[in-house]
Amino acid sequence: MKEVILIKDGEIALKGLNRKTFEDVLKKNIKLSLYGLGKFKITSAQSTSYVIPLSEDFDIDEACERVSRIFGIVSFSRAGICEKDLDKILNFAPKYLAEQLENTKTFKVEAKRSDKKFPYKSPEICRELGGRILEKFPHLTVDVHNPEMTVTVEVRDFAAFVHTDPERGAGGIPVGTGGNAAILISGGIDSPVAAYMMAKRGVKLTAIHFASPPYTSERAEQKVVKLLKKVCRYSGPMTMYTVPFTKIQETIKDKCPEELFTIIMRRLMMKISERIAKDNNCCALITGESLGQVASQTINAIECTDEASKMVVFRPLIGMDKQEIIDISYKIDTFKTSIEPYEDCCTVFTPKHPRTKPILKYVKQAEEAANFREMIEEALQNLKITNINQRED
Ligand code: ATP
Ligand code: MG
Repeated sequence: MKEVILIKDGEIALKGLNRKTFEDVLKKNIKLSLYGLGKFKITSAQSTSYVIPLSEDFDIDEACERVSRIFGIVSFSRAGICEKDLDKILNFAPKYLAEQLENTKTFKVEAKRSDKKFPYKSPEICRELGGRILEKFPHLTVDVHNPEMTVTVEVRDFAAFVHTDPERGAGGIPVGTGGNAAILISGGIDSPVAAYMMAKRGVKLTAIHFASPPYTSERAEQKVVKLLKKVCRYSGPMTMYTVPFTKIQETIKDKCPEELFTIIMRRLMMKISERIAKDNNCCALITGESLGQVASQTINAIECTDEASKMVVFRPLIGMDKQEIIDISYKIDTFKTSIEPYEDCCTVFTPKHPRTKPILKYVKQAEEAANFREMIEEALQNLKITNINQRED
């Protein structure tokens, strides 16, 4: 049985002159995402893209899974291909959809005839196919207003496609059409969700992770890689930079006032991240901060953190409750990994009483006195690079 995946573009339809670029990026993203599943081609017509398998072994189940995670797609359907001949369509459709029809009570048929040369008009196709389905599945009734299932026949240029109700796509806009940004990623619950949310708005990601061995372990870093592998099923492949942060954190501990440890550490993360971001053509930083969640996420603390870099910082979780963030982390399958109990550099040397209203002047004085300049350069020269993609290895 030959099948295709029909894909309907999402917000792309609204983008006027940019439409072509958006379509091209989406097509490239679909290609990349389906890599390794067998031979296929993609064609586009009438705001629909078709994934057409070209080899017998093409894994269409897995392809549908992957398509469901590509941003820029509003809905998609797995459809059976049939010759453009009414008799053949009438034979094929009830067989192809047998399992779904058996498990439904009410249905209707819809026909879309974009090939105007096809000798039967849409109402005739609906009537004939509706009748044939009722013959084969006598338990069914037709309900044109509120059917449990809609059987659709699309008569297109090169074939007819038969499918039921489309599945909802991932929405958003295609990754790569919204510029580049760097996500500061920890092993926690929040930052992977923040990464997902910005990728959904078309942003291509670079990841930055701060590690402080031996206070943080190799396994903590592996946990971050595991999280990013989940995120890249939505965002596409990315490069991860691991920043050696031990010396800087030890210096903060030795030379800075205890109540400012966290805020200074966060400022240094921003300074270093800004440099890595620039080197990677990124114009923004992304964090998983949410207002008021911890001492370093009060308005004053965020103001103080922001001053450390000139780059725009996106905080897509800023107004969300923890439970709302957790719900998304379940959806994108990062939750279970996030709660594995490995230490993060943020939890090394945490002060007993962190300042919730740090005063910028004193923070900067403390930073100047400890003089991090050379340490920042040294860290930047010793970045570890990991390529993140969907592949198992
Ligand atoms: P998360 O769940 O993402 O760890 P959090 O609620 O625990 O967030 P913090 O630990 O204060 O909050 O971190 C705030 C943000 O700072 C994180 O969301 C992340 O963007 C960034 N961050 C924290 N630790 C690291 C790290 N080790 N490497 C890179 N970025 C980090
Ligand atoms: Mg954390």
